[in-house]
Amino acid sequence: MKQYGLIGNPLKHSFSKKYFNDKFASEGINAEYINFEIPAVDDILSVIRSHPNLEGLNVTIPYKEKVIPFMDQLSEDALIVGAVNVIKITRNKGKIHLAGFNSDIKGFKQAIEPYLKTHHTRALVLGAGGAAKAVFQGLKQLNIIPVYVSREKTDPAMLTYQDLDAAIIEAHTVIVNCTPVGMYPNVDECPDIPYHYLYHEHLLYDLLYNPDETLFMKRGKEHGATVVNGLEMLLLQAFEGWNLWNVNTSIH
Ligand code: NAP
Repeated sequence: MKQYGLIGNPLKHSFSKKYFNDKFASEGINAEYINFEIPAVDDILSVIRSHPNLEGLNVTIPYKEKVIPFMDQLSEDALIVGAVNVIKITRNKGKIHLAGFNSDIKGFKQAIEPYLKTHHTRALVLGAGGAAKAVFQGLKQLNIIPVYVSREKTDPAMLTYQDLDAAIIEAHTVIVNCTPVGMYPNVDECPDIPYHYLYHEHLLYDLLYNPDETLFMKRGKEHGATVVNGLEMLLLQAFEGWNLWNVNTSIH
């Protein structure tokens, strides 16, 4: 039986195990998906060595960046984002080869694309973590000009929340929440943007999916914006991981 799994710490709220084991059961795939809650990133090697049928791993917090030195090869998307969330394991006469990918760029692009209109030419990316980097790159690939909004201006090209005035909000009709602000149980929190400047041409995309409708989305809806949560992205990036393990053999 083939094996796949997830490394991270802690893994209590992980979605992948249920998603993949349900997929294997419903599609008659002879495989299992295992959670590996490892205390240190170096433990990835013993997990791989002690599971000879392990063909792929997902990676979550806090190891998405830390696994990079263990990779023999990195995809372009993983290099751009500086984080790996999918690892393809191949074995040849006992030699192990690890290829690292990032499926968030493709997952985000596929998830937001159906909602995009011609007036969506500029975007605010709230946050500057790993997910924000993937979203930033995805927006560029969709010909939308992105700009980061961060609590601290660490780069001259970045905006802070205090910079967001009527003109900036009106010009940036796509706003993507790439922060954990508003995630369960903190459902009464939302990113600190001036919601009263939003109007019907805005698309507010929240990477969060718990709750289904975040306060960020609710407040956008009150001003006529289109709002979407991150569930579709979550499913699409997981599906992309499956493709990378099974369909695409070469790095891209
Ligand atoms: P992260 O590395 O922790 O980064 C989050 C960023 O949010 C930080 O860099 C920070 O940016 C900002 N931030 C953190 N706490 C904040 C606060 N209290 N107020 C304002 N800003 C705050 O997390 P990540 O890996 O990028 O993921 C971000 C969120 O996206 C997570 O909740 C994750 O679950 C979700 N996500 C969803 C999907 C999906 O498929 N739907 C995929 C990936 C991630 P500054 O310090 O620059 O302000």
